[in-house]
Amino acid sequence: MAQIEAQTDVIVIGAGPAGLSAATELARLGVSVTVLDREAEAGGIPRHCNHPPYGLREFHRLMRGPAYARRLVAKALAAGVTIRTRTTVTALHPGGSIDVSSPEGLQTLAARVVLIATGVRETSRAARLIGGEKPGGILSTGALQGIVHLNGQRPFQRPVILGTELVAFSALLTCRHAGITPVAMIEPARRISARSPAIWLARLMRVPVLLQSTLDAIHGRTRVEAVRVDRRGQMQDIATDGVIVSGGFRPEAALLRTSHLEVDAGSGGPVIDVWGRLSDPTYFAAGNLLRGVETAGWCWAEGRRVARAIHAALQGKLPDPGGARLRLASDAVRLALPHVLPMTTGQDSGVANRLQLRLARPAKGRLRLMQDGRCLIERKIDSLPERRITLPLPALHSGSDISLTLEEAR
Ligand SMILES: Cc1cc2nc3c(=O)[nH]c(=O)nc-3n(C[C@H](O)[C@H](O)[C@H](O)COP(=O)(O)OP(=O)(O)OC[C@H]3O[C@@H](n4cnc5c(N)ncnc54)[C@H](O)[C@@H]3O)c2cc1C
Repeated sequence: MAQIEAQTDVIVIGAGPAGLSAATELARLGVSVTVLDREAEAGGIPRHCNHPPYGLREFHRLMRGPAYARRLVAKALAAGVTIRTRTTVTALHPGGSIDVSSPEGLQTLAARVVLIATGVRETSRAARLIGGEKPGGILSTGALQGIVHLNGQRPFQRPVILGTELVAFSALLTCRHAGITPVAMIEPARRISARSPAIWLARLMRVPVLLQSTLDAIHGRTRVEAVRVDRRGQMQDIATDGVIVSGGFRPEAALLRTSHLEVDAGSGGPVIDVWGRLSDPTYFAAGNLLRGVETAGWCWAEGRRVARAIHAALQGKLPDPGGARLRLASDAVRLALPHVLPMTTGQDSGVANRLQLRLARPAKGRLRLMQDGRCLIERKIDSLPERRITLPLPALHSGSDISLTLEEAR
């Protein structure tokens, strides 16, 4: 394998909104940056989300995903970023050396800092334990968007959509674009997972949203013909020719799991400190890899913040790693990050200017951050999995563990 010595200050893995915004910001700050992506084109997921709303925070206008992705790429190139596509990173080693596979063959690249921004993957039908036959016509939203927007095909006419989070509504918009008419959205909770205005989109498109309902089984020999839905204990068969399985996002963290880097069991992503730094301080992370799906604008802003932290690290200006560890003391909370908080207050230059939480199940009650028997922060919540919950960064009194508790309301 050819060894290339650190020819660039920073390597960014992943050319989505988080990786590209970080690279652009670093290049503007005078840092040499190379972005690597396994796809033939840079831009990440927005490349195949051919609908608004993208771009409001970044470019102050409503854009469709592909135009937004092209604009991010153009900005990065104009700032002096090198982008290498068709380049898959296959291994991460201590100290910032990585193995890549590309049309040029296998190589080991090295940089002073490596930023990992590899995004998320959707949970498959098999992982969701849905019963019934295994016919064709069952797709994740990402696969649907690839087929519709990249291949120009229409995989079904009247599918059901499983889930009601942000990306399920993205699937709805993709269906509208392709002339597909979904027959129902299916949601186990009492309300939709996305913020409530999203339900107007379903109403506008006359798509019934079946709340407190679960998909019991999928039927059909070669193609989907019907689904059986459990609606509060009553079974109902719905004729349909496809199933869009949305949600259940997990970080695209295969690289981490085979590496020396510490992985958080709750999120499935890397353990980070407030600057987005990993357990090996040569590595940083940003974007959906950290937790599951956020909006593109959120990931873009996160990329910019972590770029400033990387710039400080390259100048030796970032505080030493270490600090208080955040531990979860409630099974209702799936993840909370950053996982390591320094003893200084009011940090706003890191990847996280607030604590970010996600629930494992619908829950309401009082969240508390406790350290040394003291309550640092308390907040009432009434929320659902996949919804964004944030808390201010606490002012710490010591370096001992912080525990996150939830006193659930009956
Ligand atoms: C189906 C779907 C629809 C969505 N719709 C909307 C919407 O309408 N509006 C909105 O604001 N947000 C939407 N989002 C969210 C938004 O697209 C994401 O938040 C955003 O793209 C995340 O940016 P990212 O940079 O973290 O990751 P991504 O955009 O996922 O980019 C990650 C990149 O890393 C690359 N990569 C991964 N592993 C490797 C590897 N080993 N080697 C090299 N490259 C690698 C991938 O090829 C990819 O290009 C949607 C998300 C999904 C999944």
